[in-house]
Amino acid sequence: MDIIKTENYYRTLNDDSLCSCDYCRNYYKEVKKAYPELSDHLAGMGVDIEKPFETMPLEPYKGTIEYIAVQYIIMGNAADFKSEDVYGVHISITDSHPMTDIDEEHYVIEISPIRLKYSLYWQYSDS
Ligand SMILES: [Zn+2]
Repeated sequence: MDIIKTENYYRTLNDDSLCSCDYCRNYYKEVKKAYPELSDHLAGMGVDIEKPFETMPLEPYKGTIEYIAVQYIIMGNAADFKSEDVYGVHISITDSHPMTDIDEEHYVIEISPIRLKYSLYWQYSDS
């Protein structure tokens, strides 16, 4: 992986380039609080945990939500990457992901599973 290029990539992502669905917005809001060590670990790879490429959420249930997998883009050569488990979360490389539209060498990793509080849930159930 190329940490500098990966950091630069995440720096260029803003709110407009991120998905704005409820599931993703909940993820941006909750993931760092729930997984601080994982967040630090990904930051060490140049990845901003609050800027996923793709999330795969299950239906929220009683104020919690599970994401079967969450995908992140990494700049550099995939041969450098090794699967690992970090604080109960599996990190692996994946080939099944949407088109990335990135010309430079890169690959996509998947972290799974992620379980979070679903805070937006209550906004809808209260009305
Ligand atoms: Zn989304």
